[in-house]
Amino acid sequence: MKKSIQAEFSNNNTYFYFGTLISVLTVLPQFIFSPNQTHTLFLAITLILLIFIPKFSKILFSVFIIFVNLSNILIGHIALHWGYTLADITPRIEVAFLSPIYETREYIAHYIDYRDYALTFFSVFVMFLLFKFIRHFTHSYRIFRIIGLGVFVLILLGVSFYINPIKEFEPFSVPCEVCSVMDDKNKIDQILSEREKYVHQIKIPNASKKNQFYDKIIIVMGESVNKNHMSIYGYGLSTTPFLTALQKSKKLYVFNAIAPTNQTRYSIPIDLTEANVHSYENRYLHSCSILTNFEANDYETYWISNQGRVGKNDSSISSMASEANTTFFANLNYLEAKTDEVLLEYLNKLQPNNKKEVYFLHLMGSHSDYINRYKKESALFQDAKNIVEEYDNSVYYSDYILRQIFERFKHEKLLLIYISDHGENINLENNGHGFLPPYKDEYMVPFVIYSNVKNPRLDEIYRDNKKGYFNLENFNYTVQYVSGISNHKNLSYSHKVMAVEPSNIYDFDKLDFFN
Ligand SMILES: [Zn+2]
Repeated sequence: MKKSIQAEFSNNNTYFYFGTLISVLTVLPQFIFSPNQTHTLFLAITLILLIFIPKFSKILFSVFIIFVNLSNILIGHIALHWGYTLADITPRIEVAFLSPIYETREYIAHYIDYRDYALTFFSVFVMFLLFKFIRHFTHSYRIFRIIGLGVFVLILLGVSFYINPIKEFEPFSVPCEVCSVMDDKNKIDQILSEREKYVHQIKIPNASKKNQFYDKIIIVMGESVNKNHMSIYGYGLSTTPFLTALQKSKKLYVFNAIAPTNQTRYSIPIDLTEANVHSYENRYLHSCSILTNFEANDYETYWISNQGRVGKNDSSISSMASEANTTFFANLNYLEAKTDEVLLEYLNKLQPNNKKEVYFLHLMGSHSDYINRYKKESALFQDAKNIVEEYDNSVYYSDYILRQIFERFKHEKLLLIYISDHGENINLENNGHGFLPPYKDEYMVPFVIYSNVKNPRLDEIYRDNKKGYFNLENFNYTVQYVSGISNHKNLSYSHKVMAVEPSNIYDFDKLDFFN
């Protein structure tokens, strides 16, 4: 018996070594990216499995090798660009599914670089080795065939007794995660139509008119604006000349604030509804956005957006937009995003009137690719030499957009508010938001309010802000309080922020800076 095993082994030397080489190369990238010891152990077990499989089935071996190599490309991309913790693939695939085409295009152009090409090349190379292996190598295993099958079954039983690798361990959980995105998408549709019904039947009492001073309220929601790149927050370059000049009027209030999350699709709903960092889904579902609150107080509401509308019911943001009396989405074709000037064109077409109106303006702001967000002729750096200069140009351009909005409404009783959905990590090498673990820069957003009417409530919250920074999770309350349609101030000083999706909560104060 011992002799025949030895004989089988020496007869199949090359077959054994070649198969083992392919297995090691296949698991290698994920060994490098593995975020913890348990996962490394799991990968080691996977490697042992891979070494035993070709002893009894070449087909099964090929399936495993191809599958793991393809998943290496996806997992490697996340690990290289965003930081890899297990099970954060689902929200990223979700974003990819829910994004308009121009965003996906710009994402690919911006975030796929030589490292992804190298990894893809490596995976294709391993699959090429597999092809050679299948074509040219045969074995004469007889006893090993049975031993191989036996070990394979034993390990598989052992592993599935302790854990469920299909549900819990990448890369084998990747197909389940993709399927769960499809399920989630259906669930989201269902949830949003439920929300629509809820919002329709909601009854909001009319507030007293005593503190309602404004005819025009403009809420400008910027995109990916890191306040540390705004001169009004102390940045060394003059990126916000308009806001800085406006500050001299003493009618501009500059607040310290953090965004509740680092993802657009959660932050805008948290800002505008009763959802907050600790309770997202249920509160979002069972609350109207402040658009409905304003309508109940006789304001005409507008949602004017330069971001994509994915569908009436399949995005958390367009669900709120549909609460407005009038909606306008500039990027309906999804193929390319225009600069935020399209919003001015739309505003300028509206007839001046004496009605009470609230405008929610959703900018493309500083969404990457930054170079597509501004007009070159009106840029701070005419020939931006690097990504930071391009980013600063986008911040500068948003300041110009704010100036134009201000000019349009400055003679009315005006409340103008500027925030951003989240911040942005930015340095010469890398940029973006939605990292895990996240960085401070992803939450450091502007929060400024201009009022040309004397409003004691503004002075009061400005004093309150000196105690710390506001978490914009309760922005909905602040807006209603300042505009006088509610008496609940309800400021949030919470340090807790969400990263990528509702299950990841971090303490902002304990996060690192990106640079
Ligand atoms: Zn965003």
